[in-house]
Amino acid sequence: MIRITDILDQASAYLPASDVALVQKAYVFSAAAHAGQIRLSGEPYLSHPLEVSHILADLRLDAATIAAGLLHDTVEDTEASIVQISNQFGPDVAAIVEGVTKISKMNFESKEQAQAENIRKMILAMADDIRVLLVKLADRLHNISTLEFQKEYKQRAIAQETLGIYAPLANRLGLYRIKVQLENQSLRYLKPDVYAQISEGIDRYEQQGQAYIDKVCAMIQTVLEENDIKGRVKGRVKHVYSIYHKMKQRGLTLDQVFDMIAFRVVVNNLRECYTVLGLVHSLWKPVPGKFKDYISMPKANMYQSLHSTVIGPDGERIEIQIRTEEMHQLAENGVAAHWAYKEQGSKKAQEADRFSWLRQILDWQGDLKDSRDFMSTLSLDLSQDEVYAFTPKGQVKELPEGSTPVDFAYTIHTEVGNHCAGAKVNGRIVPLNTALKNGDTVEIITDASRSPSRDWLHFVKSGKARSRIKHWIGTEERARSLTLARELLEKEGRRMGVNVSKALKNGEFEPVVREFSFRQVDDLFSAVGHGRITPKQVLRKLLPKEEQKAEERKPQDRSGAQAPAKSKDKNDAIFIKGVDDVLIRYAQCCNPLPGDPIVGYISRGLGVTIHTQDCPNVANMEVERLLDVSWGGQEESKVLPARIRVICKNERGMLSQITGLLAKEGVNIDSGQFNSSVDGMSEMDFVIEVKTTTQLYGIIEKLRKLESVHEVTRFATG
Ligand code: MN
Repeated sequence: MIRITDILDQASAYLPASDVALVQKAYVFSAAAHAGQIRLSGEPYLSHPLEVSHILADLRLDAATIAAGLLHDTVEDTEASIVQISNQFGPDVAAIVEGVTKISKMNFESKEQAQAENIRKMILAMADDIRVLLVKLADRLHNISTLEFQKEYKQRAIAQETLGIYAPLANRLGLYRIKVQLENQSLRYLKPDVYAQISEGIDRYEQQGQAYIDKVCAMIQTVLEENDIKGRVKGRVKHVYSIYHKMKQRGLTLDQVFDMIAFRVVVNNLRECYTVLGLVHSLWKPVPGKFKDYISMPKANMYQSLHSTVIGPDGERIEIQIRTEEMHQLAENGVAAHWAYKEQGSKKAQEADRFSWLRQILDWQGDLKDSRDFMSTLSLDLSQDEVYAFTPKGQVKELPEGSTPVDFAYTIHTEVGNHCAGAKVNGRIVPLNTALKNGDTVEIITDASRSPSRDWLHFVKSGKARSRIKHWIGTEERARSLTLARELLEKEGRRMGVNVSKALKNGEFEPVVREFSFRQVDDLFSAVGHGRITPKQVLRKLLPKEEQKAEERKPQDRSGAQAPAKSKDKNDAIFIKGVDDVLIRYAQCCNPLPGDPIVGYISRGLGVTIHTQDCPNVANMEVERLLDVSWGGQEESKVLPARIRVICKNERGMLSQITGLLAKEGVNIDSGQFNSSVDGMSEMDFVIEVKTTTQLYGIIEKLRKLESVHEVTRFATG
């Protein structure tokens, strides 16, 4: 078991004494908090945080990270709180511990592979300090190295999660050494037979091959010296998981994997890398297509090296990697190499914001082409432009920041979005415009009778939701506008003596469609339904030439407003069917109610607006667009707004008398506005909800009977 003195020794090698003191203090705190706790291995619990901080110190990370490594389980598993940690160790350490605790609480077991990438991205987004990930990976590395004490199902679950999420995460951050260990340990528990077989193979190979490795190293070393290049050469057998991967990928048996050994040459500068490559290629024949220049084209995790496979001295394939010292550091420790404590300018590094490492990488990579790709993906991950939320089954959905349950519903399925009626976030019912947060679990409540609302367009954030809602509304409106147009045309047709159905059947509309520059009859009808063209303008074109002229000569009936007086012939009127009809709106000025004589007005792009016939606004409307309408008789199931004005004495309790009466009548008040005048009178305007004119006038009668009420009227706004 590692001891704190080992870690303090490690840290003292590169940290100032004050920083080492912080690590020691964290140890004392952690030891007290975990006192009495035992791991499954029988060791004191404290051995775990000690091992974790040892891994972190090995990466030469700063004091806050090592301290956080010692404290990482205290908040989750002991009485200690984040506030305590913040008070004693500062906000930096507290934030790292909190981040690690947050990630640990998430349950990623048994997630589909397809989700793994999203989960990794989510973790990146949640950990807004890269040190959180470094501690979490060190934590996982120690846990998976001590997995033998867990039950078998648990071993498999942890190994699966490690392989699916943490090893790729380590790879993404360029933490090669950690990645390799995570992969090997995972394989050991997921495929014990295969693991044992490959390990044995490697052992055999190493024993037999050591002389061979030494020979190749010596040959390379010799050419380096002949060319005055100082460099280190090392040969090693590849690790278990990478051999397994190769076998699986190419369908090979262990015996068929030839290039199990890789040689590495580390030199001083970039130019020497290419020189060495040339020397190696003159020594041994390169295998065509097996040269990769990761120096000019770094991998997504910033890895740089030259790789080449050559036919070695005994006719075997060997892989040679050539890199500089700096590239080597990065290849081994990735992001950690950048975060590693550097004595010079360390203060400055700490003052810099949390993304300073990102900029370092940017500087370091210069204007290398491929780095842009990596930067854009990584900065996207970390800029928190995205929100990751779970379905109740644990699937992760990626959404733009500020997304709502409606956006979420559309990521599940268009039908779920189109019938989204409500939502629960983390078990609680929330409004549909609630902004989702990282890690929220969202449950969508659907109702087949519900459909998208125009209002949704005001709050949805994802392009997908927006386009689907627009599409639905568009399709719906078009269908309704076509029905409406048909009714409008038939009505006008009866007046003008044109049989619209027959004309349609005979294709008589085709020339009219072209004349108005539409593509098809539906487009023409849609324009009529939306009020862009009047029925009369269309039907005129269907009349014989002489009649067309006669029709044009007819004087316009400008006395208009009275013209659409309630028709005696009910068949001649448009019936207002369901009140929810997208294309039928009730005017806000006069608030028509079933029972009121009404008139329709075809407004551009809005379908038909219904006004009362005596609405003051009707007089100013274009006669051509006024329309005979009457109530269809099914509207009474719904309440509609009505405006009433009460003139009464300015007395105490007046308002409560009126509202009391309305309440007794079962009438809701939408809004009220009150003006007192100097003569001791009050004017109160209410918008109330009623179903019919009969009900409204009944209420007005009752209000008039109140003692101090002078007058009650229904009114329209101008
Ligand atoms: Mn832990």
